[in-house]
Amino acid sequence: MELKRSAADMRATMVRAHRDELTIAFVPTMGAFHEGHLSLLRAARAAGDLVAVSIYVNPLQFEAREDLASYPRAPERDLELARAEGVDVAFAPSVDEMQPPGRTTVVTVGRLAEVLEGAARPGHFDGVCAVVAQLLNIVTPHIIFLGQKDAQQVAVLRRMVTDLSFATEIRVCPTVREPDGLALSSRNAYLDSEERARASVLFRALEAGAKRWTAGGSVADTEHEMRAVVSATAGVLLDYARAVDPESFEAPGKGGAPLLLIAARVGRARLIDNLQVEG
Ligand code: AMP
Repeated sequence: MELKRSAADMRATMVRAHRDELTIAFVPTMGAFHEGHLSLLRAARAAGDLVAVSIYVNPLQFEAREDLASYPRAPERDLELARAEGVDVAFAPSVDEMQPPGRTTVVTVGRLAEVLEGAARPGHFDGVCAVVAQLLNIVTPHIIFLGQKDAQQVAVLRRMVTDLSFATEIRVCPTVREPDGLALSSRNAYLDSEERARASVLFRALEAGAKRWTAGGSVADTEHEMRAVVSATAGVLLDYARAVDPESFEAPGKGGAPLLLIAARVGRARLIDNLQVEG
């Protein structure tokens, strides 16, 4: 596996890959790998001739009060895991490499990026889009692999890729979960053992909401059910529990099965999860 620290070196490798007509499969990450990340690397390995991963904790997607400084980092372990998954090129730039002095450009998608996570974390998706756009320009992949775990991020990036004519296909991989349903997340590392036990309530709430919907419940019933399940667990502070149209993230249309989304704070971790109701 090659390790690239500079955008120029990464770009040169990718230019050669295009010249050799290799299909480039790319997984953008913030590192601290868990099985969720590894599942994306495996999907990329199965689809591409050349697999690239980026490991970059993007400061632009953290608000000032958020956990940028304490965000989990495990660069050496990540590189070992990437190598073991058969990754060809890892791109692990410094912040200085990615942020030209005086950088001001962000990419604003609009309404889709302003609701739910966008409302809870103003500017978050502008920062995500700015850096993913930058990575797409450096890596020039044919396919990128994203996790359903961050469903709104997927929708926002689809919009950006379409609107700005990026020549990349987006493939979405299912959420990898612990046996009790908790979605794997780098931020789970913040949970102590009691908080960890409580955190599975997010998935239980999603399942209860899906059951309510499938039994003929309305959007309001479904959201109420999710809230009720969370409020029965002490120490879990609900941010939102919503049933939305999976594309627009607005109220679900008649007949369509909704995407259920939940966000809650458990100890110092802010956790998100989602579940697509079967149609
Ligand atoms: P992150 O390092 O948190 O930015 O995540 C990198 C990629 O991994 C994103 O596309 C995430 O959606 C995806 N991801 C994170 N957690 C999971 C999970 N539990 N299952 C599947 N994909 C995930």
